[in-house]
Amino acid sequence: MSPRPHTAPILPGATIGVFGSGQLGRMMALAGRAMGYRIATFSPDADSPTGQVADLEVSAAYDDEEAVRRFVQAVDVITFEFENVPAHVATLAAQAGVPVRPGGHVLHVAQQRAREKRFFADAGLPVAPFALVETLDELQSALATVGTPAVLKTAAFGYDGKGQARIDTPAAAADAWQAIGQGPAVVEAFIDFSHELSVVGARGVDGTFAHYGAIENEHRDHILDLSIAPARLPAHIAAEAAELTRAVMEEIDAVGVLCVEFFLTQDGRLLLNEMAPRPHNSGHLTIEAAVTSQFEQQVRAVCGLPLGSTELVRPAAMVNLLGDLWQGGQPDWAAACASPRVKLHLYGKAEARPGRKMGHLTALDQDIEQAIAAARSARHALTSSHAATGNGGTEGKSHVAAG
Ligand code: AMP
Repeated sequence: MSPRPHTAPILPGATIGVFGSGQLGRMMALAGRAMGYRIATFSPDADSPTGQVADLEVSAAYDDEEAVRRFVQAVDVITFEFENVPAHVATLAAQAGVPVRPGGHVLHVAQQRAREKRFFADAGLPVAPFALVETLDELQSALATVGTPAVLKTAAFGYDGKGQARIDTPAAAADAWQAIGQGPAVVEAFIDFSHELSVVGARGVDGTFAHYGAIENEHRDHILDLSIAPARLPAHIAAEAAELTRAVMEEIDAVGVLCVEFFLTQDGRLLLNEMAPRPHNSGHLTIEAAVTSQFEQQVRAVCGLPLGSTELVRPAAMVNLLGDLWQGGQPDWAAACASPRVKLHLYGKAEARPGRKMGHLTALDQDIEQAIAAARSARHALTSSHAATGNGGTEGKSHVAAG
């Protein structure tokens, strides 16, 4: 890739402007502040996970153009921790002469599932058989080629499996169409995968690429539940997933961290499911397991600094802490910290709703199976006293879908 304008590094002391204010922004802000950057966050929320640890929190609507203009003029570089920011945000930032990393064109593709699928397919990247449909009639005829079982997904991104319906037989198409609220959608073959995995990649302003290898993921009710690094998969699969991630980042010319999620089919083929042009939940374990966390990497990349080493220094397993864990009262944090190899992260969210990501636990162990067991057992310990007092724990039970 040829070098772009704005290649002079943005050095510590400068202000990084972050659109979005959730946990990804929070962990990036913590990494950025450790390096001496100032962090400003913009979102409709107040006392947000990012705002609590930022130098400046601006609470305004994304479509408040005047507020966006003032914000971009007050910062040295713009990035996103959330891709569903309206396109004019990137445009206004670019007009103000402030570097926007990744660029608005990356958000444009990543914020709409139909565009993203088409981008993968046009780039010759492997995806599940799919069709873009706008009416029930189109869905019915698409099923003839895509086949059943299939998955119907709204074209505009839902998150964590929202806006999705499985179609087991062609006769079930109308119900699925209603269930996702009709409207433009992607219908794709249901993949009987052996594994789900992701690769967190990073690309510098100069086009340098780095990645953390394959991370193995398990979802529960469409929400990430467990991530394991390194993935317990053959080296050639991990290498191929990394190469596909490089291809995505080069094709779309992304700067920053970008995660690609894959299915591995029973017969050993990798299929791209989706991408997120930002740090990703499956990469949280890099905070403790890698020389450079995905959050520091994002800071380095968007500021035009050289990328840090992505070497994994020890195997790690991460489990998410969803709001469901609060159902029986405040979780027992001390019990979860009883294992000295388990690290607790909480995102500062006041309200614990079922399915809401409130925090995560990462366990480190030279033996990956031990790391997985330690992470699960620490999560179990959070609510085991609730079970003893009759309030009921949630470990092992199904979660309510994200609200
Ligand atoms: P998505 O929002 O597309 O990432 O979907 C969330 C989760 O739903 C994925 O991580 C899978 O566990 C499952 N899923 C999505 N699409 C498919 C598919 N085509 N075949 C099988 N499972 C799927």
